[in-house]
Amino acid sequence: MTKITFLGSCREIGRAGILITSNNGRKCILDYGIGFQKDARLPLPVNIKNLKGVALTHAHVDHSGALPKLYKEKQVPFYTNPISLRISEILIKDSLNISKYNFQFGYRELEKLRNNAWFLEEGIRQKIDENFYITFINAGHIPGSVSILIEVDGKNILYSGDINTQNTNLCFPTSTENLPPIDCLIIESTYALKTHPNREMLEKNFVDKISNVISNGGKILIPAFAVARSQEVLLILHKYNYNDQIYVDGLSRKICTSYLNYPEALKDYKIYKKALKKAKFISRQIDRGSIKKENAVFIASSGMLKGGAVMEYLKTILRDPLSAIYFVGYQVEDSPGRTLLDKGYFDYKRDHGSVVEDLSPIRVVAKCDYEYFDFSSHADGTQLLEYVNGLKFRDGSQVFCIHGDEKSTTRFSSSLVKKGYNSVAPEIGEEYMI
Ligand SMILES: [Zn+2]
Ligand SMILES: [Zn+2]
Repeated sequence: MTKITFLGSCREIGRAGILITSNNGRKCILDYGIGFQKDARLPLPVNIKNLKGVALTHAHVDHSGALPKLYKEKQVPFYTNPISLRISEILIKDSLNISKYNFQFGYRELEKLRNNAWFLEEGIRQKIDENFYITFINAGHIPGSVSILIEVDGKNILYSGDINTQNTNLCFPTSTENLPPIDCLIIESTYALKTHPNREMLEKNFVDKISNVISNGGKILIPAFAVARSQEVLLILHKYNYNDQIYVDGLSRKICTSYLNYPEALKDYKIYKKALKKAKFISRQIDRGSIKKENAVFIASSGMLKGGAVMEYLKTILRDPLSAIYFVGYQVEDSPGRTLLDKGYFDYKRDHGSVVEDLSPIRVVAKCDYEYFDFSSHADGTQLLEYVNGLKFRDGSQVFCIHGDEKSTTRFSSSLVKKGYNSVAPEIGEEYMI
């Protein structure tokens, strides 16, 4: 029997981690990310005896962020690809720099992770031990993202990672074609209960609104996730021939330029280069002071207004009725971005130096326009179901629904049961034999 242990991302988004143990005790870990809840930042610890390999689906920190912890004492191959390694490194360094949490690893372990990296091309079957193979398959989620097919003890396990079955400007979609019959599917459920709007119409509407605000003398702030979303926004603006001034700042800028080194991971490298040329990249404080006054589009991270370069532009835009803040990524519950969307204000933390007694935030009610555009890089409910239906299953196969909140994972799994699949939304620490 083969054992699957769920180390995280069970009924939550964050700290993805799956341990596969073969019938002779050899192990492989798929993803090892960090979590976003206060007291649940790491996946469960693993006894690394007999660990034969670690494989990563993509660079987002909820999948990659805790990988260095596995490299404290052990040197095992880390299966990834060049773009995921580079972007993971940037993001892990960033989280080590800004987070006050003790992740139990540092730069030394990150370097060890890099030194053990082993690049796998999509579609190439890699042996990690006797009767134990992994194959990467394009996942369509962000550049470099893959699903992982594990062949172990004669069984086929498919771990979707984060997937997108729809075309975006940055990536080709994932596909279930050419996959062998499987015994076990571990699938993400992020948007299992949602339906995304029509992409073309959304893109057009987005660019029209931006042009309108700019031509009326306003500014546009786009708080965007640094990885993939900022670049997708630039590609959309380019696609609709947007020719006014665009600035990119913060971690978004760093990722934009890093992507230039990996043409093989991008859908259309030439178009990407052209789209990037239309933007100016900002890194110096002196420049920020002057450009803030311009009627321009500012793309900056963090995507949920939790800090980062976006804060530089927020204050002036919040108070300006001619300007707008357009969110392009999901805003989690209680994030400052979500509060702005739902309640129309932003709370600034007080500067501790001056007023010691009063720690209540300074509330700024938004006078500008604000809106959320659902440019998701995940499949929605219908698309996830189509993905499952597109697979060939062997008798007695199982489907595990992870990487979604309690409601999404359990309801997605129940809907699969109703359709005749043997499905469950596992809880953290649970082990299943297949
Ligand atoms: Zn992701
Ligand atoms: Zn994820």
